[in-house]
Amino acid sequence: MTAPSSQPLLAGHPHFHYKHGVLHAEGVALDILAAKLGTPLYVYSRAALRAAYDNYRQAIGERPVLVCYGMKANSNLAVLKEFARLGAGFDIVSGGELQRVLAVGADPAKVVFSGVGKQAWEMREALAAGVKCFNVESTAELHRLSKVAQAEGRIARVSLRVNPDVDAQTHPYISTGLKENKFGIAIEEAVQAYQTAATLPGLKIVGVDCHIGSQLTDVSPYFDALDKLLDLIDRMAGHGITIEHLDLGGGLGIRYSDEVPPSPKALLDEVFNRLQARGYGHLHLVLEPGRSLVGNAGILLTTVQFLKHNEARNFAIVDAAMNDLLRPTLYQAYHGVRAVVPRQAEARLYDVVGPVCESGDWLGKERSLALEQDDVLAVESAGAYGMVMASNYNTRPRAAEVMVDGEQYHIVRQRESVEDLLKGESTLP
Ligand SMILES: *Cc1c(COP(=O)(O)O)cnc(C)c1O
Repeated sequence: MTAPSSQPLLAGHPHFHYKHGVLHAEGVALDILAAKLGTPLYVYSRAALRAAYDNYRQAIGERPVLVCYGMKANSNLAVLKEFARLGAGFDIVSGGELQRVLAVGADPAKVVFSGVGKQAWEMREALAAGVKCFNVESTAELHRLSKVAQAEGRIARVSLRVNPDVDAQTHPYISTGLKENKFGIAIEEAVQAYQTAATLPGLKIVGVDCHIGSQLTDVSPYFDALDKLLDLIDRMAGHGITIEHLDLGGGLGIRYSDEVPPSPKALLDEVFNRLQARGYGHLHLVLEPGRSLVGNAGILLTTVQFLKHNEARNFAIVDAAMNDLLRPTLYQAYHGVRAVVPRQAEARLYDVVGPVCESGDWLGKERSLALEQDDVLAVESAGAYGMVMASNYNTRPRAAEVMVDGEQYHIVRQRESVEDLLKGESTLP
């Protein structure tokens, strides 16, 4: 079970590696970090964030593509600031996310605003900030947006999120482009919705968008969706409606165990082939990657509290739980689990579980590990949909977050205290 020194943690994690038998994030030894800052602790690698963004930038080359980071995957200000510095735009889904973007001084003109339930105050703030585009998901939303824009004396730039009815072949909870999903406007109704948008005051049609799902490990669903969107754009042109940009959403998968996700280049090269072939080479493209920019740039450190053995199972009870990392519970998602300092001892199969009072509270099942009490474990691929989904269930304060940068580390979110949780509550007189 001992990893040789300097072996990468996973193919997808080049910035987390074992050195002298200790797992490191870049130049920082994680056993020391856990001892200093406590666990559960989210640890991100700045170099990994940059490498993931660079992967998109190199695939884009000179082509007109704006990367709008799907920030719901990880909205820590330090992460946002890093992407803003690199020139990224942002895909937001709430007024709260807009405030985060503004807080790091990012350019609102590179922000697209998605989401099925935008409220009037969120629309007002986004209009005042001057976002690039509202990705509108229903005719009712068009009417609300038109009213708000008129009242504010502003023009809302809009794209309709079209549901192309393609099967992204991913987990049902993260597949969004099928008819039975709540997202977007059915593609058959899209021309009519665009005609409505064209008549409403305060709106300017600028784009078409879709987002078909998450953790896609095959690019063919994107091309199916693209072809349907281009058919739609043809029909729209027949009604005199033209657009500036096409937004294909996010969704590129990452490696959690043995997936081989496609590269941004594989996606973009074929997308531009098809755009050119259909006479749309002039269209600007927007992508909204979330997971593929941050997922493998983070891990979650946790400490073994107790080992428990019964006839059927061995349990490693750790101090991180479903309230810290919900994905295993919510999606039966796989996350690798490794010892930060692997032991030279015989491994057993452990269920790695948290202290929360739910049977669904587990982080990994049947993992081969050689463990003792107080060992620190790393839960891999925890940079996306990790901390952002954390809750205070069981009155558990949320974890701290750290960004490693070479030999340095920075606490980018303080650990919550129980006092923080009680603040704001009161009893009756
Ligand atoms: C969640 C989401 C994204 C990001 O998805 P990933 O799978 O993390 O890349 C992009 N666009 C929209 C509209 C989303 O809801």
